[in-house]
Amino acid sequence: MDSYSKSSSPFDCLLFDLDDTLYSSKIGIAEALRNNIDDFLVEKCGFSQHKAPSLRSELFKTYGSSLAGLRALGYNIDADEYHSFVHGRLPYNLIKQEPQLRNLLRSIPQRKIIFTNSDRNHAIAALKRLGLEDCFEKIICFETMNPNLPNSTRPDQFPVLLKPSMDAMKIALRAADVDPRRTLFLDDNSRNVAAGKALGLSTVLVGKTVKSPEADYVLEKIHNLAQVVPEIWAAAAGDRINRSKSKSDMDSILVTAAATVGA
Ligand SMILES: [Mg+2]
Repeated sequence: MDSYSKSSSPFDCLLFDLDDTLYSSKIGIAEALRNNIDDFLVEKCGFSQHKAPSLRSELFKTYGSSLAGLRALGYNIDADEYHSFVHGRLPYNLIKQEPQLRNLLRSIPQRKIIFTNSDRNHAIAALKRLGLEDCFEKIICFETMNPNLPNSTRPDQFPVLLKPSMDAMKIALRAADVDPRRTLFLDDNSRNVAAGKALGLSTVLVGKTVKSPEADYVLEKIHNLAQVVPEIWAAAAGDRINRSKSKSDMDSILVTAAATVGA
């Protein structure tokens, strides 16, 4: 990127959540996941079938995930075993290819990174089904935020770190190696968006119609990204303008771009 195009877009990098950001889990994935977690609570932890659903939602609310909650409560649950039970058996065939989204992502000139609370196997499986596995530079996931978990000798030795915890967010930003002020973070969870905003990221709340206070943008569907955040492509437009437009054309486009980003 030359210095002109770099300065014309406010973003050097985009961090994308995966589930319910790049695809909707309402296609049957979320329901299957809830059932798998309930089965895990019954089969592996000995809770009653009757109690499992309310326990699951209680653990999610208090600890961010059932795995995090179970470990915090002293259950020695192996993260890989948990993930292969609850994610490994998901009906991934319900996730369909997204050629339009693929074209959109591939038109983004900046670095693109996945930042998900899910485990790596799930992220890779979902991205493959979507046809997006080669659209991202790296995947920051459960394993990235919890590198010491496999070495723990007690379940409560290392708390499970997930978005929106500040510690998890900081690990992710370090792994991404980004300047938060020049990074756009897209997530469907308003608490994650708030955590990102607190660390200086520009934020997009995805899958909603009403903006949360900490969201800079709101997108009902990720497919609307170009309409709602056109300044992502300011750099690409700059490159094109450099080659094919006259100076006066370029000036007027720069004025428009500056107005769009509120510069
Ligand atoms: Mg999500």
